[in-house]
Amino acid sequence: MPKANETVLEIDLGALTHNFNYLKSKLQPQTRFLAVVKAFAYGSDSVEIAKHLQKLNVDYFAVAYTKEGVALRDAGITTPILVLHPQPTNFKTIIERCLEPSLYNAKVLNEFINVAEEEKQSKYPIHIKFNTGLNRLGFWESDVNYVVSKLKPTTSVLAKSLFSHLAASEDINEIDFTNHQIENFKKIAEIFRAKIGHRPWLHICNTSGVLNYPNAHLDMVRYGIGLYGFGNSAKEDKNLKPVASLKSVISQIHKIEKGESVGYNRAYKAKGFETTATIPIGHADGITRVYGNEKGFVIINGKVAPIIGNVCMDMIMVNITDIECKEGDEVIIFDTKHKASVLAESVHTISYEILTAISQRVKRVFLNSI
Ligand SMILES: *Cc1c(COP(=O)(O)O)cnc(C)c1O
Repeated sequence: MPKANETVLEIDLGALTHNFNYLKSKLQPQTRFLAVVKAFAYGSDSVEIAKHLQKLNVDYFAVAYTKEGVALRDAGITTPILVLHPQPTNFKTIIERCLEPSLYNAKVLNEFINVAEEEKQSKYPIHIKFNTGLNRLGFWESDVNYVVSKLKPTTSVLAKSLFSHLAASEDINEIDFTNHQIENFKKIAEIFRAKIGHRPWLHICNTSGVLNYPNAHLDMVRYGIGLYGFGNSAKEDKNLKPVASLKSVISQIHKIEKGESVGYNRAYKAKGFETTATIPIGHADGITRVYGNEKGFVIINGKVAPIIGNVCMDMIMVNITDIECKEGDEVIIFDTKHKASVLAESVHTISYEILTAISQRVKRVFLNSI
């Protein structure tokens, strides 16, 4: 790995290939692989990640919002793209850009059918979402007859898949709840398929769902966090490689005396003769203020340097009193050894949040592209 000489998010596409192959090895040959690339592919870069995965012959992509799908189409991605959470205001764009909507309630279903008819579409692929316990988006089991009654009379759209989302697939204390979600979804799907008269694909598993519920892979799985190197368990983390490493440099070193303060609002006061380093990354880059005041840390020459005082917009200051280092030395915020999941735990959050928070201002550097 090259040494950072400014703040960069290094994206190792070789690690992505490794994760893709590992995650694919968990599936039966007939189970399709959908890669979730929402939120800039979990904070990395959705275009580069999608291009790479398209070369690896991934079957499907999913994004959250229409705009994210448009960005992929603009970049030349031709693989089908499911839009998990579209709004009717974008339905025309969805059709123009060959994106496939998740339809989750009567309002969006009816509005999409109307737009598809206006646009003279035939069998436009749609995906019907059912709520089985997350209580976030989705038709209820009791809506099956209604959905079928709306789909049967029109040839403008075709239900390509039925899906649901698990609430606690990573939590071994919720196995009963999760199994109940899976069984309930299968029951809904069976009734739906019988009434509609064709067999839409079924999918319910996210990363932890695939890894923990091998009998629930169905026709397709939706892999997100696993692709980026996190398995939501110590066991699976060992099989995956973090794709993104966030690195920076020491801009300046200060020596301060006991009682002198560091940063805004004088939030840190030196307990003795201390040394601090200033690093060009701040809350505008995704290192939020919760990491301040010694909650978060960085790694310098292999040693832990706590973030002292308040996080600034463009900078953090860290305590390097016991670390041998100089201006220009590399700083690791997270990498394959010092994992984002560990830094996330220091402020009681999860890898997903720290990764997706890395702002677009941070330069992306790609390694090992194919
Ligand atoms: C984000 C998302 C996923 C991916 O979940 P991971 O835990 O990251 O694998 C799958 N399905 C839906 C509906 C999602 O919103």
